Amino acid sequence: MSAELSRIAEEVSHRRTFAIISHPDAGKTTLTEKLLLFSGAIQMAGTVKGKKGGKFATSDWMEIEKQRGISVASSVMQFDYRDHTVNLLDTPGHQDFSEDTYRVLTAVDSALMVIDAAKGVEEQTIKLLNVCRLRNTPIVTFMNKCDREVRDSLELLDEVEDVLKIRCSPITWPIGMGKTFRGVYSLLNDAVILFEAGTEKLVSDIEVIQGIDNPRLDELFPLEMEQLRMEIELVKGASNEWNLAEFLAGTLTPVFFGSAINNFGVREILNALIDWAPAPQERDATLRSVDPKEAKFSGFVFKIQANMDPKHRDRIAFLRVCSGQFERGMKMKHLRLNRDIAASSVVTFMSHDREIVEEAFAGDIIGIPNHGNIQIGDSFSEGEELAFTGIPFFAPEMFRSVRIKNPLKLKQLQKGLQQLGEEGAVQVFKPHNGGDLILGAVGVLQFEVVASRLAAEYGVDAMFESASIWSARWFSCDDRKKLDEFVKALQMNIATDAGGNLSYLAPNRVNFALTQERWPDIVFHETREHA
Ligand code: GDP
Repeated sequence: MSAELSRIAEEVSHRRTFAIISHPDAGKTTLTEKLLLFSGAIQMAGTVKGKKGGKFATSDWMEIEKQRGISVASSVMQFDYRDHTVNLLDTPGHQDFSEDTYRVLTAVDSALMVIDAAKGVEEQTIKLLNVCRLRNTPIVTFMNKCDREVRDSLELLDEVEDVLKIRCSPITWPIGMGKTFRGVYSLLNDAVILFEAGTEKLVSDIEVIQGIDNPRLDELFPLEMEQLRMEIELVKGASNEWNLAEFLAGTLTPVFFGSAINNFGVREILNALIDWAPAPQERDATLRSVDPKEAKFSGFVFKIQANMDPKHRDRIAFLRVCSGQFERGMKMKHLRLNRDIAASSVVTFMSHDREIVEEAFAGDIIGIPNHGNIQIGDSFSEGEELAFTGIPFFAPEMFRSVRIKNPLKLKQLQKGLQQLGEEGAVQVFKPHNGGDLILGAVGVLQFEVVASRLAAEYGVDAMFESASIWSARWFSCDDRKKLDEFVKALQMNIATDAGGNLSYLAPNRVNFALTQERWPDIVFHETREHA
């Protein structure tokens, strides 16, 4: 193997790329901060503030950037831990929940699911886990807030298994909760890790007692140990054993209990990500699958962020590197436009050491500034025709019809929506019955963003009105005649999206169920691939 290839292989095997999936308020921001703290990327916790007040959660990391003078962009954080390079991709979750949130999950190799142990499985977690399932992404689970009065642990695991349809293997087990939260018992290591409240606790401060039968435990908790030992026996008997292969297949999740705000349980999670979560894997492209250890560079765009600086119209395309080595200044080919771009101004998202990197490997994310010519799903390579697949658009769940105040601006409106649609900011549907254009999104803020960008960038004042649509489904049918028949019969509900694909706009769930029943040959899809 050449020195170059073995260097690439080495870098790839030391990469971990993951995202945190959670419902708002479960503790994603707190945990992210603690992960950075543990890795040494930031010195002090408590710098991430002001999220709830600000409109865009993307300002969360500005403080850290300022404090450390590093390039911790809001969307991608890179840090080193135990000789590995870890990329943590943000999944916008509060008001800025959007299709981007879903699509980020197509660019990671594993996900960390954070659950508020007082609440259990919540709505947004269900949606995000469903997206992870499209690629069988391995999931690590963290039951957070054990320092509060939380729900029964066995019941929580049952709920995860029932609702999320993934088997749980508890790796640690909580001892007590709320005011009597004592710590966790590690089922794998037969050790008790003692809990002490405090936000600035470091790993070295935490006491570990080896062996569940250790008399020291009886000294510490004379009233609780008998019951705990019984419970552990029960859990051992009743729960799924840890199995790495099943985790990697996405069918089993290791479950850890802890308290992010108290730094408790965070190290175990980081270790699980390093020890168990996969390094970058092969990725499918149209003609072949691409090995991350190949010499030649390739990657795909999964997100486009506009107007990071409102004075400029620049957009940043976020590209996940899939193979080879990216070097600053190299030429790479934008395959859809069949054009070389010189990647001199490409942004990398680096950890604390600024000097090092002008290069990136599979699993890393690079940002390419552009003026709107790059779209979601675009592939880049050193020349070979590689169109990566598996970067879908998702069925929107919120709809608005669009009208303009000044009919003379219709052209600008159409152009604006076309571009914003290609960028993935919103989905645009043109109803076959000639009605107003329909916008579809998965998060309500997407509409606000589109309205303000239409005004600022295209000079269009658009009015959005609620549309009585429950969901949109793309559809297909092997039998061309049947398809035409369907389109003709249900013209009122059919629209074409920005990519020219047919979509069924269902006014409600019942209507959709009936339509499926009446047209058994038509296949409805919740996602569609990039055109
Ligand atoms: P996000 O919306 O998922 O990013 O959640 P945040 O990290 O902003 O946390 C939501 C709230 O839960 C904040 O008030 C946190 O201080 C609090 N929180 C986070 N982790 C814990 C924990 O382990 N214990 C307790 N008691 N509160 C926590």
